[in-house]
Formats: sequence, structure tokens, C-alpha cells
Amino acid sequence: MKLIFASNNKNKVAEIRAILPKEIEIFDLQDIGCEVDIPETANTIEGNAILKANYISEHFNQNCFADDTGLEVEALDGAPGVFSARYAGEHRNSADNNEKLIQELEDCSNRKARFKTVIALNLDGQQHLFTGVVEGEITLHPSGSGGFGYDPIFKPNGYSKTFAELSLAQKAGISHRGLAIAKLVEFLRNKK
Ligand code: IMP
Repeated sequence: MKLIFASNNKNKVAEIRAILPKEIEIFDLQDIGCEVDIPETANTIEGNAILKANYISEHFNQNCFADDTGLEVEALDGAPGVFSARYAGEHRNSADNNEKLIQELEDCSNRKARFKTVIALNLDGQQHLFTGVVEGEITLHPSGSGGFGYDPIFKPNGYSKTFAELSLAQKAGISHRGLAIAKLVEFLRNKK
């Protein structure tokens, strides 16, 4: 089966290829010659995943899926949430986002946070949504050089390391995206 993944984030593409069974072939936006930065203008994580998947269906008429992720911090009433990519400004710099979040939580004892990923799959004219959530906490300082985005400051519950200190496979086994992808894979397997 061939599926377009509506992303140009090489980290995400690598994470997803590592999880998906070999018989599901993934093509990213670069592979299909789509150079558009699909606008993420919805006000929910679900809405943005749907928006990106629908853009590809409309313009390329192929089976596809898109994901959107947000980091929801309890003490900040769920912020940055759907605005996670632009938390420190439109320039989308992960180091700045991490620094801002650590500053916002300075002196805050409640550091509970969760990553939420929603995948929208457009398959043969029908849409299906899959959600994955991982609970954890925001660390006091960044640590680790793996992963991307907020990984250096997110420690999943039950672990003493941040996502950026875990291997790709370890992260995929417990992460929001890994859990959402597992649901997607189960769905696709049952379709056969
Ligand atoms: P999006 O899914 O690309 O829209 O991601 C929104 C924001 O969350 C961006 O700032 C990403 O860097 C960040 N993000 C998405 N997935 C992850 C992850 O697995 N770990 C850390 N940060 C992530």
C-alpha cells in the first residue's frame, strides 16, 4: 500500500517509517513535489490534521494521512497546545520554544504535561482519525540531543530521561505519535 504523509519534517518521517510495516510505503511532500507549507489555521490539533490531509487529497487525489501534535501543559491551561510550533513566535525555533516554556514554568511546582497527536487518514474517500497521548512532565533544563522540538524538555512518566535522551525506537514505543501510528497500522491491517 502507498500512502502520502503530508509532512516535510524529516524527523517525523523517519519516526513513522521506523514504526510502519514494510508493506506500507510512505511518500512525503518532497517525494510528490509538493513545496507548499500547508497553512495550519485551525484552532484545534484535530482540525489542523484534517486540514493538511484534505489539502493533499484535493490537490493530489491520493490516499494520504497527516498528523498534528501539541504539547499541553496543565499549569498553563493546556498551552501551548495547538500553538506549539509558534509558541515563541512565527519563526518556529525549537530552542526558543523550549526556553520560553521553561521560563513560563519558573517557580511552578506543577510541571505536568502531555503530548497529543492526531492523525487524519484519508483513504478511498473516507476520513478516519487516530489519537495518541503520552503523559509526562517538563524538566527544569533541556537534556539530550536526539529527537526534535520539545523532546529535550519532556520527560515521559516512568522514565528518568527526556525524549531527547531516548533512542528513536524507545521514543516510538511510548510516544504520542507512536501510539497514534499504532492505531493507524492496526486499522490498515484490519482493512486487508
Ligand atoms: P506539528 O505536529 O509539526 O504541528 O508540531 C507542533 C509542534 O510540536 C512543533 O513545535 C514540533 O516541534 C512539536 N512537536 C511535534 N512532535 C513532537 C515530538 O514528538 N517531540 C517534541 N516536539 C514535537
